[in-house]
Amino acid sequence: MCTTTGTKAAAVTAEPTAVRSRPGKATAGSTVGPDPRHPLYLGDWERSIPHVHNDIAMDNLDEPHIKRKHAILEKHPQITQLYGYEPLTKYVTVLAASLQLGLAYYFGKINTDSTWVFLLTIYVVGASLTQVFGVIIHEATHNLCGETLAMNRAVGFLANVGIPVPIFSSFRRYHLEHHAYQGVLGKDPDLPLDWEVKLIKSNPLAKFTFLFFYPMMYVVRGAAQQKKPSTWEIYNILWSVATDILVVKFCGWRGFLYLFLSLWLGYGVHPAAAHFIQEHFTFDDGQETYSYYGSLNYLFMNIGYHNEHHDFTKVPWSGLRKVRAIAPEFYNTLQYHTSWVMVHWRFIFQKDVGPQSRVGRDYEDHKKGRKMVVERKNAAPAVERD
Ligand SMILES: [Zn+2]
Ligand SMILES: [Zn+2]
Repeated sequence: MCTTTGTKAAAVTAEPTAVRSRPGKATAGSTVGPDPRHPLYLGDWERSIPHVHNDIAMDNLDEPHIKRKHAILEKHPQITQLYGYEPLTKYVTVLAASLQLGLAYYFGKINTDSTWVFLLTIYVVGASLTQVFGVIIHEATHNLCGETLAMNRAVGFLANVGIPVPIFSSFRRYHLEHHAYQGVLGKDPDLPLDWEVKLIKSNPLAKFTFLFFYPMMYVVRGAAQQKKPSTWEIYNILWSVATDILVVKFCGWRGFLYLFLSLWLGYGVHPAAAHFIQEHFTFDDGQETYSYYGSLNYLFMNIGYHNEHHDFTKVPWSGLRKVRAIAPEFYNTLQYHTSWVMVHWRFIFQKDVGPQSRVGRDYEDHKKGRKMVVERKNAAPAVERD
């Protein structure tokens, strides 16, 4: 088996953390390549636990998805038929944006003195629509909404109308880095910052506050990268300023507040926002990415299928269930979530989970693992002949 560094903290604590292997986990696939984690690519690292470890866990190879994709395609090459774009997405975008702007107008100009109906609609409808915009922006980021880059940009900018801050171009920039450098320290913008790990630990109130302010964390983590805004990020800022001015002009400030609170609640303490926690928070040793297979996937365009998405980024939201159905031996053997409410509940109240429940890797280890992609491709045919 591969060696492991366990968690970073294990190296400095008096009692080093024992390494737990995962016997019986690797049951799928047919070939054996040079990466000993084959075929499921679960690491040998132990998850980081608040008050036991001081930092996130560390893996000593690259992320699992590219290799698992190759392993799956060897057995199920028909998955490539799911590659492409989903033409329905642009209509969903128009519908969702119209509904959100219609509600902003309704609360800004017609129903101007309700409080509870206003807040309840924001939480139930507005926040959910904001999450739908987030899913669409994610699809556009991977060019899954149309044939051309221009079409995907148009869909992304349209979805951004329902979100009153410029998010699409920055998300596109940083999310593609998240895929290319998953878990790589200093390169994956999805990893928690040092102070998040050190400050929050496992206190339930602190973790609830962390979730409540999660929309801000994206801004803070983006700023921590200290990169100059790209041309498209500047266009996005101008676009959002223009659409916000129009929202205030036609829907009033209360209409704008509807959009703003929909964003804040939709990206904070909302069942659908639990996918931010579900995706890469380590609830289990050795497993870096988690899917959610509950019924809210029907409302939120299969955003829960995160393992499938990372394995096959060319498959649009409408094909992700089929990926799992074609290759169940690779997905049903991983840990997965079935309730987003429980994801938040566990994150807040489970003592062994916190912002540090993540796994990272050094750039050198990432490159070492990536080399094995080539080695494994060369080694696989020989093994298959046996
Ligand atoms: Zn993605
Ligand atoms: Zn991810």
